[in-house]
Amino acid sequence: MSNSITRADFDQVMVPNYGPAAFIPVKGLGSRVWDQDGREFIDLAGGIAVNSLGHCHPQLVAALTEQAGKLWHVSNVFTNEPVLKLAHALTAATFADRAFFCNSGAEANEACFKLARKYAADHFGPEKNEIISCKNSFHGRTLFTVSVGGQPKYTEGFAPVPAGIQHFEFNNIDSLKAAITDKTCAVVIEPVQGEGGVLPADKAFLQAARELCDQHNALLIFDEVQTGVGRTGSLYAYQEYGVTPDILSSAKSLGGGFPIGAMLTTDKIAQSFSVGTHGTTYGGNPLAASVALKVIEIVNTPEVLAGVRTKSQRLRDGLNAINDKYQVFKEVRGMGLLLGCVLSDAFAGRAKDFVNAASKHQLLLLVAGVNVVRLAPALVVEERDIDEALQRFDAAVAELVAAK
Ligand SMILES: *Cc1c(COP(=O)(O)O)cnc(C)c1O
Repeated sequence: MSNSITRADFDQVMVPNYGPAAFIPVKGLGSRVWDQDGREFIDLAGGIAVNSLGHCHPQLVAALTEQAGKLWHVSNVFTNEPVLKLAHALTAATFADRAFFCNSGAEANEACFKLARKYAADHFGPEKNEIISCKNSFHGRTLFTVSVGGQPKYTEGFAPVPAGIQHFEFNNIDSLKAAITDKTCAVVIEPVQGEGGVLPADKAFLQAARELCDQHNALLIFDEVQTGVGRTGSLYAYQEYGVTPDILSSAKSLGGGFPIGAMLTTDKIAQSFSVGTHGTTYGGNPLAASVALKVIEIVNTPEVLAGVRTKSQRLRDGLNAINDKYQVFKEVRGMGLLLGCVLSDAFAGRAKDFVNAASKHQLLLLVAGVNVVRLAPALVVEERDIDEALQRFDAAVAELVAAK
C-alpha cells in the first residue's frame, strides 16, 4: 500500500541529514517524473547529474533486466564479463589503460587519492605525500574526500581529519604555484566545479596545472564525477580542454541511475595498486557494469554528444531570455548540460527559494551553493521538455519577483 507511506515518515525513521522535498516521486520516464498524487514534473535536476539518459531509458532497462536474469554478484574474488567489457570501453575511449570500479564518486576519489600517495611512496619515498586541491571544491563525503574537498563546513565536527592536505585557489595559477612543492604527490581539480557553483576552469589554469605537476613529479587528478560521461559535450571534460590527467574519477552519469564509480589511470601508475593494496566488495558488480557499459555505448556517439551542445545552447538562450525579463541572474555559466544561474545581488543567498518556486510549478531544479541555481538534465532531454521547463521556470521567477 504505497499511499500509506508519506513524507512525514521521513522525519520519523530517517537519519535527519537530508531535507528532501515535500512530495515523493514514484515514477519516471525520460525527463518526466510523477509524484504520489500523480502530479507530473519536468526533471532538469537529473538525480544530481546522474540520470544521463533520463528515467527508465528502454535500453538501460533491457541491459539491467537481462543481466538480472543471469548473474548479480560474484565479488572480485572472481572477475565477470560485464566489468571487463566496461573497462575495455572506457580505456578505448580515454587516455587511460586501466580501470578500477567502485560504487560512488567518493569511493572513486578515495581510490585516486590513495593511489597517488602509494605511487609517490613507491617511486619517491614516504615524504612525498601531500595532496593539494582547490578551495570550494567538492570531492565526496568520506572523511578523506571531505578533507581534500575545499569546503570547511563539511569537515566541521569530524576532526581529527587526515593530514597532508593543502588548498589553493581555483583558476588562480599563482596560488597553485605557491602551493605546489616537491612534497606534493597530487594536484586535484574538478574541470568544472560542480557543487561549488558550476564554475568552469580556465584552459590556461588546467594547462599550468599539467606543467607544474610534471615539474614536481606530482600526479594530476581530475575529479570528473560530475563533468564526466558526456555532461560537457565531450565524453570527459579533459578532452574538451585538451589537458590530460594522470588519474580520473567518474561516477554520477556513468551509471545513469545505477550506483557505480570508476577510477581511470595509466598502466604505469596502476602498478602501485598491486594485489591486495586496495579493494571493495561490490566494485565492478555485473549489474552496475552492464548498465554503465550501455550508458557509455549510447553517450559516446556523435549524435548524443552533439545533442548536448545544441540542447545546452537552447537552455542557455531560454535562461538568458528569462533574465532579460526579470534581471535575476548575474550570469548563466557552465558547460554543456551542467549550467548554473548565478543570482543577482538582489536575490543573493536565495537559490533554494528559486528551486522551491520551480517545484511548485512542477519543475525539478538544483542548487549549487546558496547563490547558484543548477541545471543538470538528461543528456538526451527533448527540446519540447526544455521549452516547457523554461515556461514553467519563467512563471516561477515571475512569482518570486512579484513577491519581493
Ligand atoms: C557528487 C560528487 C562527488 C561525490 O560523489 P558521490 O557519488 O556522492 O560519493 C565527488 N566529486 C564531485 C565533483 C561530485 O560532483
